[in-house]
Amino acid sequence: MPKANETVLEINLTALQQNYNYLKSKLQPNTKFLAVVKAFAYGNDAEAIAKHLETLGADYFAVAYTSEGIALRKAGIKTPILVLHPQAVNFKTLLEYRLEPSLYSLKILEEFIALTSAENMQNYPIHLKFNTGLNRLGFTDEAINAIAKILENNDAVVVKSAFSHLVASEDLNEKVFTQNQIKKFTSISHNVIDALGYKPIFHLCNTSGILNYPEAHFDMVRSGIGLYGFGNSAKENQNFTPIGTLKTVISQIHTIKKGASVGYNRAHIAATDMKTATLPIGHADGIGRQYGKGKGFVVINNQKAPIVGNVCMDMIMVDVTNITCNEGDEAIIFDQTHTAEALAEGAKTISYEIITAISQRVKRRYLK
Ligand SMILES: *Cc1c(COP(=O)(O)O)cnc(C)c1O
Repeated sequence: MPKANETVLEINLTALQQNYNYLKSKLQPNTKFLAVVKAFAYGNDAEAIAKHLETLGADYFAVAYTSEGIALRKAGIKTPILVLHPQAVNFKTLLEYRLEPSLYSLKILEEFIALTSAENMQNYPIHLKFNTGLNRLGFTDEAINAIAKILENNDAVVVKSAFSHLVASEDLNEKVFTQNQIKKFTSISHNVIDALGYKPIFHLCNTSGILNYPEAHFDMVRSGIGLYGFGNSAKENQNFTPIGTLKTVISQIHTIKKGASVGYNRAHIAATDMKTATLPIGHADGIGRQYGKGKGFVVINNQKAPIVGNVCMDMIMVDVTNITCNEGDEAIIFDQTHTAEALAEGAKTISYEIITAISQRVKRRYLK
């Protein structure tokens, strides 16, 4: 791998392919695979990731917002795209780009039908989201008859899929709760078929659901974090390869005398003479202030260098007192060995948060 001479996020498309193949190996041959590429494919780069997954045969993509789906269409993605959280204000552009909305309340369903009917659409694909316990978005099971009534004698839309989302699929202490969600969704699936008179695609599992609840794959699964290399448990992490390596370079080295302070607000006071390295990456690049004051670290010449004091907007200072290093040397923020998940744990957060936070000003580079 080329050495970094500025801050760069390297994206390993071979690792992406390995993760995809591993997840696929957990499925029945006819179970469909929806790749979740919201939030710039979890901070990686939605266009490059989606293009690669399209060549690998992913059946569906999902994004959170309409604008994310438009970007994929503009990049030439032809695969169906589910918009998980569309807003009615964007319905017209959603139709223009053949994006498929997740509809979660009678109000938003009626609004969408009013528009598609006015535009003389026929069988426009929609997806019904059911709430089975997350209490975030979704119809209750009691809404099924009302939904069927709205859809009766209406050919502007067709229900392509019905789905729900697991609350704690990675947490085996919540197995009973999850099994109850699975039961609820199974019952919803029967009621939906009865009410509509046809069978849409049913889907429930995210990455940890795929791994922990093989009995609940239904017709399709939705994976995000697994594609990007995290299995949400020490055991499963071994079967995945993180696709992103975030690295940067030492801009300057300072010798700090005992009693002197480092960084804004004098958050660090040197207890002894020390040496720090300044790196061109800060909270505007996605390394939040919670990683400051020793909670986060980088790796320089194979040794851990803790972040000293407060994270600045464009820089961090790290402790290199016991590390032989020079200006221009590479610093690893995370890679396949020093994972984003391990870094996140130090600041009491999760891999999802740190990788989606890597901002758009960080240069992306692709490895095949
Ligand atoms: C983000 C999201 C997913 C992906 O979850 P992972 O844990 O990353 O696999 C799946 N389904 C829905 C509804 C989501 O919002």
